[in-house]
Amino acid sequence: MFKSLITSILAFSFLAPAFAAEEVNVYSARKEKLIKPLLEEFTKESGIKVNLLTGKADALLKKLELEGENTPADVLITTDAGRLYRAKTAGVLQAIESETLIEQIPENLRDPENEWFGLTYRARPIFYVKGKVKPEELSSYEALTDEKWKGRICIRSSNNIYNQSLLASMIAASGEEQAGEWAKSFVKNFARPPKGGDRDQIKAAASGQCDIAIANSYYYAAMLNGKDEAQKAAANKLAIFWPNQAEGDRGAHVNVSGGAVTKHAKHKENAIKLLEYMTTKASQTWYAEKNGEYPVTAETKPSELIQGWGGFKADSLNLSALGENNAEALKLMDKAGWK
Ligand code: FE
Repeated sequence: MFKSLITSILAFSFLAPAFAAEEVNVYSARKEKLIKPLLEEFTKESGIKVNLLTGKADALLKKLELEGENTPADVLITTDAGRLYRAKTAGVLQAIESETLIEQIPENLRDPENEWFGLTYRARPIFYVKGKVKPEELSSYEALTDEKWKGRICIRSSNNIYNQSLLASMIAASGEEQAGEWAKSFVKNFARPPKGGDRDQIKAAASGQCDIAIANSYYYAAMLNGKDEAQKAAANKLAIFWPNQAEGDRGAHVNVSGGAVTKHAKHKENAIKLLEYMTTKASQTWYAEKNGEYPVTAETKPSELIQGWGGFKADSLNLSALGENNAEALKLMDKAGWK
């Protein structure tokens, strides 16, 4: 009896430090409700405790930079490849080796040097007011500079990274000069000085302020699926149009939410395990159903609502180009007078 007590105390003291070390610290620019349930599921399956800090993307990046090697963060979760690229160039991420991530995530949705990985993707299509615009009148982002759209387009401001990334993709497609000309003509067709978020552009179009809105796909899904009847009614007045689908054209602009292991991660293995967990069918399905995003893995289908929008050709550009062209995009938007 005495001996077995000693043995179990010894066994416990041996196990205790190892058990306590099984944790991972996450900085997330995704809202708590869009990540916490997933992290809880990860803990249940792996036994690894997750400590979560949520905040604004730019603030979290600044925090990582200031904390340097003393940072408690092992994982950074944020949206937009432009921001993931920013974190990479700020030197706060590290390259990791994971066959799972390489196999599961298409090459263009992750960093070529394995410093960040797209975990869900979203499109930024064109939305039009049914009855006011015929889909045959639409074709591409480029064609939105046509005079017929004068005073009819709603889009948010240039300080939002989603639009910076859209223009960055156009720089990649046709060069700075053409992208700059496009921005100038595009701005002339705005219905109003940019204000509000993506949902506000859809609402403005529904209320008659414009006939075309540009927004990320998951906002439209959330408005259609949500409990807010006014938002649902607004979204129902609009339909989705997939731009740049013609043969030989590049496809609709897409972007990701993604994750990375921090440069000074103290729990690197657990951090990799967490990122890998986020590509499992269960996680991918959760994001697809919960937030109307597109799964990055081939084995998982988008939600039923989104499948109902039909498939589309996505721009296959490697998304790190969105980061590389970000500064130039900002400059061009500024020159174009895109507020
Ligand atoms: Fe968003």
